[in-house]
Amino acid sequence: MAQAMAVTKPVRRAAEAVDGLSEFSTQELYREILNRLGEDATRDGLLATPGRVEKSMAFLTKGYDQNPTQILRGAMFDVDYDEMVIVKDIEMFSLCEHHMLPFFGKVHVAYIPNGKVIGLSKIPRLVEVFARRLQVQERMTRQIADAIQEAIEPQGVGVVIEARHLCMMMRGIEKQNSSTVTSAMVGCFRQKETRTEFLSLVRQPGTGTL
Ligand SMILES: [Zn+2]
Repeated sequence: MAQAMAVTKPVRRAAEAVDGLSEFSTQELYREILNRLGEDATRDGLLATPGRVEKSMAFLTKGYDQNPTQILRGAMFDVDYDEMVIVKDIEMFSLCEHHMLPFFGKVHVAYIPNGKVIGLSKIPRLVEVFARRLQVQERMTRQIADAIQEAIEPQGVGVVIEARHLCMMMRGIEKQNSSTVTSAMVGCFRQKETRTEFLSLVRQPGTGTL
């Protein structure tokens, strides 16, 4: 799949600006957007807004500069353990690439090792790398699974994401409380028994990390 590329290499920012806009700073562009929304960008409350938006967008998309493979490489350990490792209820905040509005929810990750495990704290960091980009929930689910598969070649990986999308909720397209669930199953997680075990562990109310 084309997305597999994004796993090993950080996504590069576009080198070329839209024609004729390259001489404007990011803050000038946000100021122009405020004007076009019908606002007075020079009023007190909005004066510092372009600067704030620039900073906050840089933070919300910092995952472009982070390399998931590198994060995992520093924390892989040889083990003699072949039961399911599951980290659930990882908080996730991202931006949808269609509307640049937030979607947020929980990520559940599991794998069955094949001689190697990943330090548990690295899994939320991995989620963060992919979430801090403009995203599509389905793609992010797959990217997390592929990154783990590539790093430690386990017997299998399962990733489930449950999220709510403001682009749907705020615009009235979706009922306020409905959430979107996506999953990616690799290797032995494609087998019914393993998948069922994973999903039932995810559904168990509990402590987060088992
Ligand atoms: Zn959207």
